[in-house]
Amino acid sequence: MSKAPAYLNNFIIKIINQDLALGKYTSVHTRFPPEPNGYLHIGHAKSICLNFGLAENYQGQCNLRFDDTNPVKEYIEFIESIKNDILWLGFKWSGDIHYSSDYFDQLYDYARELISKSLAYVDHLSSDEIREYRGTLTKLGINSPYRNRSVDDNLVLFAKMRRGEFMEGSACLRAKIDMESPFIVMRDPVLYRIKFTDHHRTGTKWCIYPMYDFSHCICDALEGITHSLCTLEFQDNRRLYDWILNNISIDVHPRQYEFSRLNIEYTIMSKRKLHLLVSDNIVECWDDPRMPTIAGLRRRGYTAASIREFCHRIGVTKQDNNVQIAALEACIREELNESAPRIMAVIDPVKVIIDNLPVGYQEKIAMPNHPNKPEMGIRQVTLSREIYIDRADFSEINYQKQYKRLVLGKEVRLRYAYVIKAERVEKNEQGEIVIIYCRYDPHTLNKVPADNRKVKGVIHWVSATHCIVASFRLYDKLFTLPNPVTAEDFRVNLNHKSLVIRQGVVEASLLTTKVGESYQFEREGYFCTDSHQCSQFSKSRLVFNRIVRLRDTWLAKVEL
Ligand code: ATP
Ligand code: MG
Repeated sequence: MSKAPAYLNNFIIKIINQDLALGKYTSVHTRFPPEPNGYLHIGHAKSICLNFGLAENYQGQCNLRFDDTNPVKEYIEFIESIKNDILWLGFKWSGDIHYSSDYFDQLYDYARELISKSLAYVDHLSSDEIREYRGTLTKLGINSPYRNRSVDDNLVLFAKMRRGEFMEGSACLRAKIDMESPFIVMRDPVLYRIKFTDHHRTGTKWCIYPMYDFSHCICDALEGITHSLCTLEFQDNRRLYDWILNNISIDVHPRQYEFSRLNIEYTIMSKRKLHLLVSDNIVECWDDPRMPTIAGLRRRGYTAASIREFCHRIGVTKQDNNVQIAALEACIREELNESAPRIMAVIDPVKVIIDNLPVGYQEKIAMPNHPNKPEMGIRQVTLSREIYIDRADFSEINYQKQYKRLVLGKEVRLRYAYVIKAERVEKNEQGEIVIIYCRYDPHTLNKVPADNRKVKGVIHWVSATHCIVASFRLYDKLFTLPNPVTAEDFRVNLNHKSLVIRQGVVEASLLTTKVGESYQFEREGYFCTDSHQCSQFSKSRLVFNRIVRLRDTWLAKVEL
């Protein structure tokens, strides 16, 4: 995989280089620790590229560890999708997959050790009371009345918690640190809570489950992680990370470093919120091509290389920002501009009859698959008497000087073929044009007209007798605001036109298209054959997802 300079310049690389130079470590060991409570999104891709990328860069290791400490929310489907997405992105974890739940026994023992050192206690305050006692940034916290119990009492009570002798919410284990700490996370954080919920791996063995802050640092240490990279909201938690490791008998002490989360304009990045889009049927499912999930982007037609390229370009910093969608789109557009075969497709068709061609006429027109890449070959596309062009490529009257398409009484060139002239139209009862009658100039195949008359404009076309009917799914941004989460309920900012479905035609060469194949539909954009059409997948009805437009209309709009 190519290493972009952004990666080699980020602040984490500098730290690692220094650590290696000073001999603190001899190799680099990172981890990617998803909570299996949803599908991975493009923000996770940033973390994956960073963690796996660093391991690759230093020929070190990167573990995949499912952070499955909260049994209520975790599902097998998510674990499978996460594994699949990481592999698809082009990375492979070192050794076996790890689960935080693998360490439940050890975590329990470390909790007992903290109790034995009088550094943890069983508390009976309710969660509301705990919140109240905790104070705020401007108000000091207050000690729980249960804080000063003896070590022995606490050991007995903790064992009772484990045996299920307390109700949910009636007891928890808390670290004894400092209720007056300027860092709220250090005000006696909860380490264990009671949950009478089966766990997907440990079944009914446990009814107490460790909190993220307690388990994460210990799992990192047990796995010999050298650099534990997380997002900026965990900056204060680093104190707790270090406090726990400093107070238990463990030799390894990984270091935590924080970087900024990826946010992208007009989208949301929280699994919980993405979950709502799925459960409220606002989108089809987790891999709806409008979703910022890896699965959604893949179905939309993004390649793994384009997502990795995006992650390289945005780099890794401590600056919070909202990246433009255009930055992501540019990565796939640039790739497809090089690699995607060109194809003719008419998304909003209107019929054209070429009067001076005989009924049943067929002519093979050679078309390059890529205008700048002869090595991609040519294909033969049939021209017939009846063809389709896009409705937007015809106008009865020329209202605009810049309009370089077909106008009644004027000429235009059919892409790679002849010049045609529009002579009359036929309309239906609603006044819509149903047929445009034209004549073609037989001396203009890939040649300028003999009298050198100027023909402005080239339009794409598909033979009406040699085409395949297709659905085109035209996607737009999912939200109407650059930062949709600012509203109390982010759903008020949904873009109701984020999916427009059109019925049109593509040239017959796509009869053999395969799921996931991408094309540039000339003058329309980049499209990919959808993967969810299998049930209704028949050769006469293809479904194409618009991956991205040909040009960045976003920027164009901003400049206007
Ligand atoms: P979410 O709110 O989407 O559920 P999370 O941080 O709770 O995010 P995890 O499954 O816990 O999701 O994340 C696994 C790893 O991915 C963590 O190390 C986390 O910091 C990182 N990560 C999650 N979201 C982003 C993001 N938007 N940008 C960069 N890294 C992210
Ligand atoms: Mg989470």
